[in-house]
Amino acid sequence: MGYNVAIDGPAGAGKSTIAKLVAEKKGFIYVDTGAMYRGLAIHFLDRGIKAEETEKVIEACGDADVSIRYEDGTQQVYLNGTNITGRLRDEAVGRMTSKCSVIPEVREKLLDLQRDLAKTQDVIMDGRDIGTCVLPDADVKIYLTASVETRAKRRYDELTAKGESCDFDEIARDIKERDERDMNRETAPLKKAEDAVLVDSSDMTIEEVVHTIAGLCR
Ligand code: C5P
Repeated sequence: MGYNVAIDGPAGAGKSTIAKLVAEKKGFIYVDTGAMYRGLAIHFLDRGIKAEETEKVIEACGDADVSIRYEDGTQQVYLNGTNITGRLRDEAVGRMTSKCSVIPEVREKLLDLQRDLAKTQDVIMDGRDIGTCVLPDADVKIYLTASVETRAKRRYDELTAKGESCDFDEIARDIKERDERDMNRETAPLKKAEDAVLVDSSDMTIEEVVHTIAGLCR
C-alpha cells in the first residue's frame, strides 16, 4: 500500500495548486480526479449527449476508456488513446462534468482507476469524495475550503490573466451552483470526512497552505 494523502473541497479552493506543490516537496504523485471526470465529460460532449440524457450518458460510459499517464511528472489524461489534457479546463467541459458526476454509474466507472493508482504509489489525490469514499483509509485527510467570494475572485483573476472577459457575479453564481450540486448529490457527496483536517485558505497565502498541509504528512 502506498502512502495516501486525500484532499477534498469545493471548486476553486486551491486543491490542485496546493496538491501539486505538496507532491513536489514530498515526492508524491499528484492525482487530479476532477481531470478524470472531465475526461469522461468530453467523451459525452463529443457524442452530442446532453447532461440530462442520463440513459445515454450511462450507455456511453461503456465505450469510454479514460487513462492517466505521467509525462515529465505531470498528469496527462487520455480518452480512448487520445491525449485530451488541453481540453480539460474548458468552461463547457466544467459545466458538463459537474452535472454528469452526480450519476452513480459515472462515478463507479472511475473508482477502480483511482484506487489502483493509490495502491502501489505514494499519492496526494484531490477531488470531492477521496477521504470519504475513494480512500477511506488514507494516511492524511484534508478538507480544503475558502469563502465563495475568495474562490470567485481567484477564478476571476485567473480568467482575466488569460485575457478572457468574464463577470464576477456570474462566476460566483456558478461556484454556488456547483457547490450545491456536489454537496447534495446522493452518491458520494462533497463533505468533510470526520477524520479530515479542515483548512480554510480564504486568508492564507499559497505558501502558508502548503506549509500547513506538508506539515501534516510524513
Ligand atoms: O476538481 P474539478 O473542478 O476539476 O472537478 C470538476 C467536477 O468534477 C466537479 O465540479 C465535481 O462535480 C466533479 N468531481 C467529483 N468527484 C471528484 C472530482 C471531481 O464529483 N472526486
